[in-house]
Amino acid sequence: MKCLLCMVENETHSHLFFNCAYSRRLWERLKPMALLNSISNNWASIISGVTNRPAVNKIWSVIQRLVFGASIYFVWQERNMRYHQHKVREVDVLFDLIVETVRMKVRGLNLKSTNDVIKASGIWNFPISKNVKYQDTVKELNGLNFFNDDHS
Ligand SMILES: [Zn+2]
Repeated sequence: MKCLLCMVENETHSHLFFNCAYSRRLWERLKPMALLNSISNNWASIISGVTNRPAVNKIWSVIQRLVFGASIYFVWQERNMRYHQHKVREVDVLFDLIVETVRMKVRGLNLKSTNDVIKASGIWNFPISKNVKYQDTVKELNGLNFFNDDHS
């Protein structure tokens, strides 16, 4: 069966994710936003570069998994919509849907304002509570020992 996204090549798993001209354009727009520039468009290298890494709760690790998961979800949904409903959406439409999905999920997290979180909030445009920032600053100041006169 021909791929419904590009209508050129045969539909295989590795073609859809993300060697297809359509899905590759999508994935390549998302990669820099997830700091995944070093990862290719090949399924096996994405798996080893994103999901086979130890699950750490660092913001970029979370964003990379969300971007990957949402990309698979929406590419497969697009393929099925074309197959069943003959509806076609442009790459830009899927891109916006994925960005909004990831943003909504990240907004739901309870994030501390680390440098990574501040950088991610700039790229993904999610708010960091000013209150949280303030609390962290107070905690940091409380952690300093102002009464230690022993500088040896
Ligand atoms: Zn294709």
